[in-house]
This record gives sequence, structure tokens and C-alpha cells, in this order.
Amino acid sequence: MTSTPGRNGSRDAQLPTVIDPNVPSIARAYDATLGGKDNYEVDREVARQLREVTPEVTTLAWDNRDFLIRATRFIVGTAGIDQIVDVGSGLPTVENTHDVALRLNGDTCVVYVDIDPIVIAHGRALVEDHESVHCVQGDLTEPQAVLADPAVAGRLEWHRPMALYQVGTLHHVADERDPEAMMRAYIDALPSGSQVVLSHFFNPGDEDPEAAAVAERLEHAFLHSPMGTGRFRTREEIAAYFDGLELLDPGLETLAYWWPEGPPPENLDPARRLMIGGIGRKP
Ligand code: SAM
Repeated sequence: MTSTPGRNGSRDAQLPTVIDPNVPSIARAYDATLGGKDNYEVDREVARQLREVTPEVTTLAWDNRDFLIRATRFIVGTAGIDQIVDVGSGLPTVENTHDVALRLNGDTCVVYVDIDPIVIAHGRALVEDHESVHCVQGDLTEPQAVLADPAVAGRLEWHRPMALYQVGTLHHVADERDPEAMMRAYIDALPSGSQVVLSHFFNPGDEDPEAAAVAERLEHAFLHSPMGTGRFRTREEIAAYFDGLELLDPGLETLAYWWPEGPPPENLDPARRLMIGGIGRKP
């Protein structure tokens, strides 16, 4: 069912406002893993611990970022969608969603949502010259509040298809918060013809025991880091986030194999087999 975003979701008064350089943040640790500069020693220490488990974690992070870039080219350039809400957008880096989108269609409206105040501060500075790009603080685990935010509810045209991104986000939501129900709330609100772009940490289990062993070690490192989040879920669990959507070719795929540029990489390191993603279209 398509509905207008809920207006009854109250803005979460608990959103963090302080940037604490002594506590690692997901956005800053990810930035450190990508080799960015917007991070502190505590974040770099988390990145180092993850690299100790497997140095290929850096390439995996880039596989995710490259997936986001290729998916955006598809969404704007091929599917012709000109409005994007990028949930858990992360710190600005080399190629951001709006950079790719605006290059293909200068009228694209992009709304970035993230909980981390450092993302919002850097993001707002970066997008202030772009009238159609907005950056709002929100907690993705509260879909009704995110959807009711004036930038999300008001800047996007809810009678036309849009793209919703959950790229590298839901694995930071604990099982007990019911990420599947959260996704259902987002998908319910989307107009028909909209597309969902999603990637997630993956534990392949018996399908790929070598990679599954690395997934377990990485999950342990994530969950025991001061961030305390990073679930590697099964194919079935991740597929459930696309419930009610038609998965586009090639389906839920290892990120490096999701429409790679050129021939697919051979002999992919086990760590690079630990994120899958895809695009689903709402009928
Ligand atoms: N989507 C970007 C990408 O794939 O390159 C960034 C992914 S980064 C691994 C995860 C992002 O989700 C971080 O910027 C983090 O601040 C954000 N995040 C984590 N929990 C969140 C929450 N509850 N609400 C909003 N954003 C959240």
C-alpha cells in the first residue's frame, strides 16, 4: 500500500548532538577504513582491529562504495528516477550520491539522512551550494520520524517514484530492534515504481564455509568493538528486507559481482564475499 509519510512520528529528542573524539562512531570508522581524513584515533583503532582480522576489509568497504556509485548511475541514468533518499548516508567521500546523480540529471533531489552529527556538519557544508540536495539528522530505526521529517516529507514528491537507499546500514541494527519491520515501514510509504537500493554484511554459512569463518571473526570484532554493532546476516534474512519488491537482475548478489564494470573479478578473496546487495522495485 502506498501512503503519504506518517505525520504522527515525533522527532526523536535523543538524537546525538555532540561529537565525542573518544568514542568511535560507525561513520568515522567507515571513513577510516576507506582511507578518509574525517576520523579520530579511536576510529582508526577500530579500523586497525578489523584489518587485523582480514586486511581485505578495506577492499570490501570500497566494494560497497562502488556498488552505491554504480547503483546511483542505474537509478538516475537508466531508471530515470530523479529523487533519492539516502538513509545512513555516511561522511562525504570521493563520489557521493549527489555527485553521481547530479552529473546525470542536474534536477535530481537528494535527501541525505544520518544520525551522526559529524556527518550532518560535513554534509551540510558540502551541499550548501546545491538547492536540490539536503542533509537531515535522523535515526533510521524510527522510520515514521524519518519519513515525517520536513526535508523528507516535504522536499520529495510522494506521488512519483523515488529511490530509497539503505546501503551498509541495517547490519548496524540489532536483531531485537526488528530491522525487517523497519524496512517494511519504509517500503509501505514508497510510491509505486520506487526502487530500494540495499547492501548488507553477509554470512554465507554452508554455502561458502571459508568466507563464513571470516564473517564470524569479523562479526565478533565488530560486536566487541566500542561501536558494538555489525551483524553478518544470512541470505534469507537479507532477502526479507526486499519483501514486496521485485528484485532486479542479477538479484541479491555479492557486491563486486553486481553489474561490475568489465569482466567480474576472479578468485574473489573470502572477505570480499561478505557483503551482498541489490535493487528491488515496488510494483
Ligand atoms: N551508506 C554509506 C555507504 O554505504 O557508503 C555509509 C555507510 S556507513 C557503514 C553506515 C552509516 O549509517 C553511518 O554513516 C552511520 O552514522 C549511519 N547510521 C548508523 N546507525 C544509524 C541510525 N540509527 N540512524 C541513522 N544513521 C545511522
